[in-house]
Amino acid sequence: MQENINVVVIGGGYSGVMAANRLTQSADVTVTLVNPRPDFVERVRLHQLVGHTHTAVRAFRDVLSERVRLVVDAVTRIDAAARAVELASGATMAYDHLVYAVGSDSAPAHVPGAAEYAHPTASLEDARKLRAVVDRSPAPAPITVVGGGPLGIEMAAELAEGGRAVTLVCGEQLGPYLHPSGRRSVASGLARLGVRVLDGPGAKVAEVTAESVRLADGRELESAVTIWAAGFAASGLAARSGLRTDAAGRLLVDETLTSVDDARIVATGDAAAPSGLPLRMSCQAALPLGSHAADTILSRISGEQPAEFTRGIAAMCVSLGRRAGVFQLARFDDTAMRLHVPGRLGAVLKEAACASPIDQLAKEARKPGSHSWIVKDSKRGERVAAQRAAGLAVAERAG
Ligand SMILES: Cc1cc2nc3c(=O)[nH]c(=O)nc-3n(C[C@H](O)[C@H](O)[C@H](O)COP(=O)(O)OP(=O)(O)OC[C@H]3O[C@@H](n4cnc5c(N)ncnc54)[C@H](O)[C@@H]3O)c2cc1C
Repeated sequence: MQENINVVVIGGGYSGVMAANRLTQSADVTVTLVNPRPDFVERVRLHQLVGHTHTAVRAFRDVLSERVRLVVDAVTRIDAAARAVELASGATMAYDHLVYAVGSDSAPAHVPGAAEYAHPTASLEDARKLRAVVDRSPAPAPITVVGGGPLGIEMAAELAEGGRAVTLVCGEQLGPYLHPSGRRSVASGLARLGVRVLDGPGAKVAEVTAESVRLADGRELESAVTIWAAGFAASGLAARSGLRTDAAGRLLVDETLTSVDDARIVATGDAAAPSGLPLRMSCQAALPLGSHAADTILSRISGEQPAEFTRGIAAMCVSLGRRAGVFQLARFDDTAMRLHVPGRLGAVLKEAACASPIDQLAKEARKPGSHSWIVKDSKRGERVAAQRAAGLAVAERAG
């Protein structure tokens, strides 16, 4: 085995930290993590930051191995040919292997006025800015949350529980992922908190102004604060660096999580599109993807064929403030089942689901190689084969 192998991990979120910790199994590997902040962000709690029920920030020493060197900076370009990354500080960092773990950001809002007047929610900085805006607005001022997925639901509930007057504009449907019975539980939880829910074909936002939101069916809602929570979008870093991505901008990788363009680059978490069939952007997927990305690199270093990713995710949990939640069970291919746990027990399970990733990262820091994941998606191979047969994805590595 070659000695002193440099692995650079871009992005210190759930998947990047998991990968970095796991890579420390090998004494011959030097791991450097590049992240724009000196602290770890618990993204799954950013709505709590806005609602003043959590800071959503922790020291890296709680989750990151002491053997990983943290560099506080941002990668601006990957030069795959030179095996180096360029940093915002102007420095360049060489690598032997690279983990692309840059996560995701708020989905862009393509309606007039949204870029100027609607507040995004998906990053620490966005959430802090939004909290200041909400805090400055008087308590009875109407707040509009745009987005009927888990992000919008959790944000609306958190603010309503804090005494704010909230309207949730869902577009077509409240909680499209949820099973109808789980959706009914979410709807009644929101109703209990006093959230006004607007869904159906007319409930799409057509325009945002400083004081209002206009819907597709012409309804005009007074809105002192408008929050854009309509999902996530991939970082542009891979595409900017000339690496192939899926249509959403995630790095296109094969089933071992290796870039289809370069065997030295693996991707994980929200930023990865294995075979063009990405897992749902979630913390739940980020951890097994992170550990698999590390395993792929370690296999390659030791001259073994990396294994294919077979893990799945099996639930979606949605908080409805601090006292209620819905834990929606799913099949291993990530489709919702009728079975769900609502109410106070749902909240307890959701809190456990938010706390568990921190414990898993801390454990992997202490005992690298220990992370395991029992959920297997046994049908993934079939879907990948169908995708390949249809010629829809370029999942084989070139050369
Ligand atoms: C409010 C909210 C609630 C959520 N709730 C849940 C939930 O209940 N369950 C669930 O499973 N998921 C939830 N999610 C989604 C979950 O947080 C993400 O899917 C998860 O964080 C993805 O992990 P990741 O490691 O891929 O990316 P991230 O956690 O986003 O980490 C990426 C890191 O890369 C850094 N980075 C980005 N670009 C660069 C660059 N150019 N150079 C260096 N570093 C860079 C980022 O700053 C960040 O630190 C929620 C998200 C939000 C916003």
